Amino acid sequence: QKYKGMSEEVKDDNPYSRLMALKRMGVVQNYEKIRDCSVLVVGVGGVGSVLAEMLTRCGLGKLIIYDYDKVELANMNRLFYTPQQVGLSKVDAAKGTLQSINPEITIEAYNMNITTNNGFEHLLDRIKNGGNNGERINLVVSCVDNYAARMAINTACNELDQNWFESGVSEDAMSAHIQIMIPGETACFACATPLAVVESNEHTIKREGVCAASLPTTMGITAGFLAQNALKFLLDFGDLAFVLAYNAKADFFTNYMIKPNSECKESECRKRQAEKASKKQENILERLEQ
Ligand code: ATP
Ligand code: ZN
Repeated sequence: QKYKGMSEEVKDDNPYSRLMALKRMGVVQNYEKIRDCSVLVVGVGGVGSVLAEMLTRCGLGKLIIYDYDKVELANMNRLFYTPQQVGLSKVDAAKGTLQSINPEITIEAYNMNITTNNGFEHLLDRIKNGGNNGERINLVVSCVDNYAARMAINTACNELDQNWFESGVSEDAMSAHIQIMIPGETACFACATPLAVVESNEHTIKREGVCAASLPTTMGITAGFLAQNALKFLLDFGDLAFVLAYNAKADFFTNYMIKPNSECKESECRKRQAEKASKKQENILERLEQ
């Protein structure tokens, strides 16, 4: 059964009518804009697959997913994948499920490692040209579990001045964070070491031979925070979280902003900082002249 367009008459059997209620209730001005929005998710494991499902059910127009891994039986303590999908690439398995949930969504699925030269170039191209009509993607979300992949996404997004969200769940599954990165305006991944990785050596953030704990609860909560902030970002309502950190044992949340580091080791980050600072200066001068 095909989804009816959100602009069509609201009927109870239309899955969009409940979403459009957000507009009638004054939460969002223009919910149907979601159909023109595109999100690129790197890593469709425990967090990324659930994020992708949420965005698909929210009526997103286009989704691009990257992952280099296959579905394994060991993944069954998480959400989304099923035992029937064991052996399939995660991106193909995800694409099949997501497309059946919402036949109107456009999905590009890449079984690729984004830290290789080819993978990185591919990622740059899809960020620049992977949007709904071949334009720039609206948002990149990192749901990977290692330092190298996060740094690759950071480098790509600094270079392209692309807004992105980073996320992570700790090895013991008892804490998690999401972080919103606006190049030049908030800290990038290289500016400051994020909470979840504070105690690890930066090159072994995913420690070899250590079997990380994982809980579908912490991963689902993290995916929910990412999806909620993605909606706020794409549809321009509410306030963005910037760094949102979750401690599961205490049910404690913190929410704060990290300014960019003027001595960040990424030159593209320092360039974005200079550009945004001079833009701010221009805006102030313009206002003074008026
Ligand atoms: P575990 O390590 O606990 O078995 P996992 O590997 O599924 O779990 P998750 O944290 O659930 O890890 O998901 C992270 C996802 O990011 C994985 O599916 C992984 O394949 C993907 N990923 C990590 N690095 C890259 C990369 N360089 N390119 C593409 N995908 C990546
Ligand atoms: Zn930086």
